This record gives sequence, structure tokens and C-alpha cells, in this order.
Amino acid sequence: MSDVTIIGLGEMGGALANCLVQAGKIVTIWNRTAHKAAPLVAAGATLATSPRAAVAASPVIIICISDYSAALDILSDEAASSALAGRLVVHLTSGTPRQAREMATWVEKFNALYLDGAVLAWPRQIGARDATILVSGKDSVYTEVEPLLRSLAGNLTNVGTPVGNAVALFNAALAYLAGHWIGFSYGAVICESEGLDVQGFGEMMRALAPILGEDNRHMGRAIAGNLFERPESTLKTAGTDIARLVQLAEEAGIGAEFPIFAASIFQKGIEAGFGPEEHCAVFKILRTA
Ligand code: NAP
Repeated sequence: MSDVTIIGLGEMGGALANCLVQAGKIVTIWNRTAHKAAPLVAAGATLATSPRAAVAASPVIIICISDYSAALDILSDEAASSALAGRLVVHLTSGTPRQAREMATWVEKFNALYLDGAVLAWPRQIGARDATILVSGKDSVYTEVEPLLRSLAGNLTNVGTPVGNAVALFNAALAYLAGHWIGFSYGAVICESEGLDVQGFGEMMRALAPILGEDNRHMGRAIAGNLFERPESTLKTAGTDIARLVQLAEEAGIGAEFPIFAASIFQKGIEAGFGPEEHCAVFKILRTA
């Protein structure tokens, strides 16, 4: 038998498989589009001819594909599901907490063990000390597979027994990144409109990284402890500054969709009476459906 099977050889699944092959593991691989396996086969992996053969080949099956329903389709193939008994499935596809819970129940029905997880790294970082993979599920299952997963991500983090925890935290990070990606890109639009070097803007933001990291910790403590009073800078001050981005957009003739959206959330916070509080008191606006 192989040490491990990887199902899904997209950008991320391919990086996971490559890392394990380079680490000297005996790796079986399967992908819907078989030709993507060629470089990995050349590097020493074995291409399974079917999902069933992939599942049967190893005690540990790592799945990393586009979405949970596709993963379920692959494993639902009758022959594949009948090979699941006694296997340990690590599901590293991004999804929702409910999908993770349903997948765990489904896999365990076939007498297999299940660990859910999510990758918080770029494919090129897989195997590095600072690459992050979050996992959740039973401790006994985590212990069994921990050394293998740690070879994929130095910052492997077990985020608890509730199986939906890993993807819940992945989505929380994704929400943060959505603001980060849009915010940086809009900053680049402002720089461009003023003839400023966007690459230099990237370097400037990089230098702010430690401060921004500390701000995340500060906001986590403030929200968890309901500690919104006595801020260094108030929600009203930030809201006024963000509203000025709308004015800037009009003056520069650039898109205003993002600043209008951001300003509207801060304005709601001010109207709800949270103006004198911490910036992150917008949490109290965002939590309401
Ligand atoms: P990708 O490059 O688009 O690869 C998608 C994979 O899913 C391919 O192996 C594809 O097979 C397979 N797939 C899609 N639909 C399928 C179906 N109906 N049946 C069978 N296989 C199917 O995506 P990726 O970047 O590897 O992402 C995979 C997971 O990693 C996602 O959940 C993503 O959120 C997560 N992730 C990715 C990154 C990243 O930077 N790429 C970072 C963190 C997390 P084919 O080759 O046959 O199309």
C-alpha cells in the first residue's frame, strides 16, 4: 500500500502531493483530468485508475478539490465508498461548517475516520514552516495523522473537536482577506490616479504588517471582551476619514463602489450610537442579519 492518497491535483492538491513525494512518502494520486498527474508520476507518485483504486491504495486519503459536493460525488461512487472502511479521510477542500458536519457524518457511516481542514497558504508555501493548515475533528484522529500533515504545513493547527471549526475559521480569515484584497486594489487605484508607484505602495503596506497584525489581536480582544470604550481613535473618526474616500473618488473620477460600501457601514455604526467607541464596534452592525 501507499502511505497516502491525494484526490484532486489542482493548484493546491498538486502542491500537497508534490510536497509528500519530495518528503519521501509513497503517494497515490487521482484526478478527474488524468493528464494533470503526469509531472507527479514522473516524480514518483502512482496514478490510480479510479476513485475506488485511489481510496483502496492508502490508509490516509487527503482530498483537496473545488467544493464539497464534488468531493461527495467522487466518494459516492459505490465502489469508492465501499473501500472507505478503516480509512482516515482528511478533507482539505474549502466549504461551510454545515458541509463539514454533513461530510463527517457521511464518511463515518462507512466506518472511516474523518478530519476536516482548510489550507491558509498559497500552493508555493506548502511544506514551509509558516504555512498554515487548520484541522478539526476527534483528537484521536488528529493524533494519528498529525506527523503527516505537519510535513505539509509547519503551522498545522488543531482548532478543536467540533468538525466545522476549521472551515469556520477559514471563512473568518477569508472575510478578512476579502477586505484586504479589495482594500489594497482600491488603494492602488488611488495611487494610479495620482501618478504614484503602485509597487512602492505595496512596499509601504508591507512595512505596516507588524502594526496590522497587532491591530488584529487588539480587535479580537476588544470584541471578545466587549471592550469598545476608551479607544485611541473612535469609530466616528475612522468613519469620517472613510467617507472622505467618496469625496476623493469624485474628485479623481475613479470608481466609488468600495468607499461608498465601507462608508455606509461606518455611518450605520455612528447612527446606532457607537461613534465614540473602537473602530471594531462595527462588529455590532455586521452581526445583525
Ligand atoms: P483548482 O486549481 O481549480 O483545482 C480544482 C480541483 O478540483 C481539480 O483537481 C479539479 O479537477 C477538481 N474538481 C473540480 N470539480 C470537480 C468535480 N466535479 N469532480 C471531480 N473533480 C473536480 O483549485 P485549487 O486552487 O487547487 O483549490 C482546491 C481547494 O484548495 C479549494 O477548496 C480552495 O479553496 C483551497 N485553497 C486553494 C488555495 C490556492 O491558493 N490555490 C489556497 C487555500 C485554499 P480537474 O483537474 O479535473 O478540473
